[in-house]
Amino acid sequence: MGVNSKIEWTHHTFNPWWGCVRISPACKHCYAETWAKRVGMDDLWGKDAPRRFFTDAHWKEPLKWDREAKAAGERRRVFCASMADVFEDREDLNAARERLWLLIEATPNLDWLLLTKRIRHVRKLSPWRGKWPTNIWLGTSTENQLWLNRRVEHLLEHDVAVRFVSAELTCPQESATPNSRIR
Ligand code: SF4
Repeated sequence: MGVNSKIEWTHHTFNPWWGCVRISPACKHCYAETWAKRVGMDDLWGKDAPRRFFTDAHWKEPLKWDREAKAAGERRRVFCASMADVFEDREDLNAARERLWLLIEATPNLDWLLLTKRIRHVRKLSPWRGKWPTNIWLGTSTENQLWLNRRVEHLLEHDVAVRFVSAELTCPQESATPNSRIR
């Protein structure tokens, strides 16, 4: 399935930046933070930590994927983001986020899977005001029924082509109380 992704349900992965801050119990096992540290990026997680941004070459890759999908006569999926949360509300992320929205609009042969734990920020941070591009799938990840209940109502506010939920398991003790603020 994956063209440049090892994830079996997507063809590609794209990250507008790397880095995030924990917001709920499932973040305790954040594979992205673990992976970043494994490759020597120790300082990208946390409220005041910097984020890692990318060059123009990185941003051109989805344009190539779009051309390839068109030539193959098929739609291809892009998972966004595996190393960040696209809807983290930080001012220094706004430029990359705006660039991402333009990129999504410029790649109509790709279906963009936007997965976030900050689903309640989508209305504020997305530009489409209810008229979503048809190549966006919007999803939220959740670790238990409590967090699903909190997030799914925000997911249902958005009339996108596909809405989805990603279930992440944690042990009951870790996931019992939603005691973290959503940033
Ligand atoms: S929201 Fe996602 S990327 Fe951010 S810390 Fe939590 S699990 Fe990691």
